[in-house]
Amino acid sequence: TVNSEKSAELYARAVEVLPGGNSRTAVYSSPYPIYIQSGSGARVTDADGVERLDFLNNSTTLIHGHAHPEMVAAVTAAVGRGTSFGMPTPVEIEYAEALTARNATFEHVRFTSSGTEAVMMAVQAARAYTGRPKIAKIAGAYHGAYDAVAVNNDGSGSLISHAVTGNPEGVVANTVVIPFNDAEGALAVLREHAADLACVLIDPVPWRIGLVPADKEYLDALREFCDDSGALLISDEVGSFRVGYQGALHVLGSEADLTVLGKVIGGGMPIGAVAGRRRYMSVFDPSQGAPALPHSGSYNANPVSMSSGVASLRLLTPEVMERIGELGERIRQSMRAGIAEAGLDWEVNGLGSLFRVIATSAPEGYASGAAAMKRLYWVLLDNGVHIGDSGLGCVSTPMGDAEITEYAEAFDKSLRQMLAEGRA
Ligand code: PMP
Repeated sequence: TVNSEKSAELYARAVEVLPGGNSRTAVYSSPYPIYIQSGSGARVTDADGVERLDFLNNSTTLIHGHAHPEMVAAVTAAVGRGTSFGMPTPVEIEYAEALTARNATFEHVRFTSSGTEAVMMAVQAARAYTGRPKIAKIAGAYHGAYDAVAVNNDGSGSLISHAVTGNPEGVVANTVVIPFNDAEGALAVLREHAADLACVLIDPVPWRIGLVPADKEYLDALREFCDDSGALLISDEVGSFRVGYQGALHVLGSEADLTVLGKVIGGGMPIGAVAGRRRYMSVFDPSQGAPALPHSGSYNANPVSMSSGVASLRLLTPEVMERIGELGERIRQSMRAGIAEAGLDWEVNGLGSLFRVIATSAPEGYASGAAAMKRLYWVLLDNGVHIGDSGLGCVSTPMGDAEITEYAEAFDKSLRQMLAEGRA
């Protein structure tokens, strides 16, 4: 991209001390990523001083954009009082009260420092509660780095459990995969393993396999299977909780036994949580003797993340959730119009404030849709807009009509430019 000399220099330093210059696969870009200096509201400024509209918001985490004054105040005050202690703090209770007030199925809540850890604890809770070894997950869906869920998580449609992280065979054998939005296909797999299944783990709006919402028939089939078999239905809403005030599964008309939360609930600080029915959450309870599932963590419920989370949730009223959902719908419609006008058959999916452009075909001059999407990512950066290089993006609360219009114009312009480059 133009004006990225500083990023190139930084990356040359990074490769000397970090594998591939990288700490997080998702933020790697070839030939080098753009380094960020700062962010404010809907915009970020990179190392070369270039300002852009940010529609990725740290992989959909920053629902209030960058350096929101209320989060800055909450975090700064909390840091000043001490960042963590070997004893609990009152703000942990305040935050748990705020979370449990949002959804009737969130009776008790347990905190971790990341979504990965929260998924891990939810799966372990289901195993501890049921005494069963296996878990089922949707083929291709991503749930973080825990080995039991890092099976068949690469977005591919394959229905065979396959390791993607050098997982041992035993781990892979205990994770079975079900097809997405195919109730009969899923039930066929689930019935085969019914007696051994601790849980069925879903993301109701799985971004890695296209960000298409789960349909009602599918969700009802999974709910009924869990009720009959005794497996727990776990809804991983680390990414998708932001689609509604009570989360994604509620919007789609179902209920989980355990819900995994992260990202937006932390207001930008590291966070994860498992929320669910008391009877399942009781595996964590140390007050009645040794818990079935002991769970510690030096940063669990640390007061900085808790304070930031309280501030974040306070601003996420039903009205605000609805407003950013409407802006999300406008973005999806404007992208669909731009894509149709450009003569492409690409898809735009999503729900609420989340969107994803899917390059379903290769335009002239590009080896694949994915290659064209990668190029579009860089052209968009040159035109002042940042989304994910997989086409993932979201609306944040500091955004309004002006930002949506600015995005739509940049998107159409970039699409035309990318296509013209391919034809040249
Ligand atoms: N589950 C889902 C559905 C996610 O999208 C993510 C993060 N992208 C995770 C789990 C892991 O969360 P974290 O990055 O906070 O570990």
